[in-house]
Amino acid sequence: MSYPDTRLFIDGRWLDGGSGRTIDVTDPATGAVIGKVCVATESQLEQAAAAAQAAFAGWADASVLDRSGVLRRAATALRARAAETAAILTREQGKPLVEARAEVDGAADIFDWFAEEARRTYGQVVPARDPAVRQTAIREPIGPVAAFTPWNFPVSQAARKIGAALAAGCTMVLKPAEETPASTAVLAQVLDEAGLPAGVLNLVYGVPSEISSHLIAHAAIRKISFTGSVPVGKQLAALAGLHMKPATMELGGHAPVLVFADSDVQSVAGLMVRSKFRNAGQVCVSPTRFLIEETVIDTFRDAFVAQARALKVGHGLEEGSDMGPLVSERRLEAVDALIADARDRGAKVELGGRRIGNAGNFYEPTVLSGLDRGMRVMNEEPFGPLALLIPFKTTDEALTEANRLPFGLASYAFTGSAATKATVERQLQAGMVSINHLGLALPETPFGGIKDSGYGTEGGSEAIGAYLTTKFITERHA
Ligand code: NAD
Repeated sequence: MSYPDTRLFIDGRWLDGGSGRTIDVTDPATGAVIGKVCVATESQLEQAAAAAQAAFAGWADASVLDRSGVLRRAATALRARAAETAAILTREQGKPLVEARAEVDGAADIFDWFAEEARRTYGQVVPARDPAVRQTAIREPIGPVAAFTPWNFPVSQAARKIGAALAAGCTMVLKPAEETPASTAVLAQVLDEAGLPAGVLNLVYGVPSEISSHLIAHAAIRKISFTGSVPVGKQLAALAGLHMKPATMELGGHAPVLVFADSDVQSVAGLMVRSKFRNAGQVCVSPTRFLIEETVIDTFRDAFVAQARALKVGHGLEEGSDMGPLVSERRLEAVDALIADARDRGAKVELGGRRIGNAGNFYEPTVLSGLDRGMRVMNEEPFGPLALLIPFKTTDEALTEANRLPFGLASYAFTGSAATKATVERQLQAGMVSINHLGLALPETPFGGIKDSGYGTEGGSEAIGAYLTTKFITERHA
């Protein structure tokens, strides 16, 4: 299957990098170079920001029906190209084709959701003290946006930002991840085909830190949105603050899963194996710290390990692969170093713990027990196929461990008790709590974290608000 090279998309045109520089794109399952992505020069970043600025007035003033129509047609076009886009995504990112297909279909659903939200940016009429005065609060698009999206969900993470911003009437310069450039570029292609005016969406690639420092400081840019790691998010949020620009930050997590003895432990273990090893664990809401009530930990471990052992690890394009490779050698080394640290400090490897082969970035589904809080893996986001099993005796003890880390993105709990549900719902410090099933990341539900996991929400009815400002108008009639 051929893999397309990726060019820049600036002011409605697909361009090579001004200096002719490119970055290689590799297939993480083989290590082979499969294509390249163009690198934007500084003057092309200027052109992209200028295009976003020039297109802003027209797009902000366009009828909501026109904006909605573009997103809707793009969603339809994306569904028509879903099989081809999923294959591109698997080639560059590694995830199994079935997961890639679900991501692309999900991105089309996100566009459809924001096509509807475009029609609902309601304002308010505020009762006035003086009957001759009329007070209104209206919502206006904030302006051109600089957005940065990662390689783990290159289609759906970009769709969230593009969908909300375009629905609100904003324009955007997007820097997708250089590891996975081509699948994100399909979004620009379908929007272009759907009639998006030139300059409303621009795509640039290159050296991430150079692009972000240039765009965040740029006078044309009014809003920043970033998805990625906590350290980079903190740097970008600081830079945004320096330039008085609001930011949405969707950062890392270290999700706790509380499994109580009164849950159906066997079926929870099965559900959690599917969730843990999805996208080889490279998911910000991936369940990581499995806090298991002591009396059922052996049952949970045996069921979890048996099902994780049965997973077929292989090339994402191969029929029957349950888990693909990690996205890069850097991630492989990072996961391996965390496991080595835990092992050196006395953790027990219940399953896996090693790289598979020496071609491609495959790593065994790994389960560790015998952990203590001093181990790196108990504190740093593994972002890999790694489950940590930790026993607890009381609900308080489980909640204390769950809330111990500075992260606060996703959390999960499984229990048959209404009282326990009520306690954990209230006391888990996280932006999202999923109880007795997996129910996160739908277009219509809020998605975001607290504490070091960031701020702002990228789903649901609140998401479009990140791209709107409030203007208060008071008017005397007579
Ligand atoms: P990284 O921090 O180098 O990169 C993460 C992402 O941020 C990449 O897409 C990269 O292009 C981008 N990036 C990095 N520096 C940037 C900068 N200065 N300006 C703008 N963008 C920048 O790390 P990595 O090795 O690629 O991934 C490691 C960690 O990143 C993971 O452990 C995980 O915590 C985090 N991550 C989180 C998400 C998420 O969905 N929240 C997604 C991908 C990676």
